[in-house]
Amino acid sequence: MPHRILDGTPIPGTGGRGLTSDRHVPRRKLSDSVADKLSELITSGEFPVGTRLPAEKDLAQQFGVGRSSMREAIRVLEAAGYVQTTHGVGVFVINNRPTTISLELTLGGGYTMSDLFEVRIALEGKSAELAASRLTDHHREKMVSFLAAASDPGISEAEFVRLDGSFHRQIAEASGNPLLLYMWESIAPQFEEYSLRVIGLPGRLEHAHADHLGMLEAISARDTARAARLAREHVQTVQRELSGVTADPSSALRTYHDRAVASAAATGAGDSDEDVHDENHGEDDH
Ligand SMILES: [Zn+2]
Repeated sequence: MPHRILDGTPIPGTGGRGLTSDRHVPRRKLSDSVADKLSELITSGEFPVGTRLPAEKDLAQQFGVGRSSMREAIRVLEAAGYVQTTHGVGVFVINNRPTTISLELTLGGGYTMSDLFEVRIALEGKSAELAASRLTDHHREKMVSFLAAASDPGISEAEFVRLDGSFHRQIAEASGNPLLLYMWESIAPQFEEYSLRVIGLPGRLEHAHADHLGMLEAISARDTARAARLAREHVQTVQRELSGVTADPSSALRTYHDRAVASAAATGAGDSDEDVHDENHGEDDH
């Protein structure tokens, strides 16, 4: 079973960077799981935008976790742009989808997104290069059909992510090297998990689709060097976009404010520029 090796089995020395306390146990942090569940409640409308979350101790009790885990989970949600803490008042839902994602976020296999990107750049560059030199009509037709389905303007984000994964898997298969395919399948669950988290970021779906078309074109033209380069750049682009928004710890908040200001300006509803760099206090606690 290809997924076994990434199923959370502790592999010494492979833990996510920055997780010094559980460096040798690359298991998902409890607070990340709690943050996941809480974000689902926000996304599903259980806690709609504008509402105040229950008190930390009540939430901790409800989730059956300690207060420190709940506090950390709320910090994760805040960094992702879902909630905002107004000191002395409470934690408010400000978005029903993430606005930023941390590259150090630990995925289900106990790896961070940075770890995953490093491997994908190597793996997918090589897969695309070999696919370009060994492409068969069968593999090409499958790639074309995945991208045709993904170009449907009404496609759901979940369906796009599924087709995205199928396209990348097809490149690994077209490489003709079963070990590359095996390696792709071993990271596929983490690919899907991270993709579902980032696909809602502005422009991400459109960028990904344009990249895929370029990759298919290079592979079809049997241009091995270009196929490899575009495959690596496809992964590096996401990595760069994400590190851009996470380089500054206050950027999550700024991103939210910038978007709020932009949408207010677009609708002529207001012009609260002054508040953009203000701390966590303020204008969003409706
Ligand atoms: Zn892709």
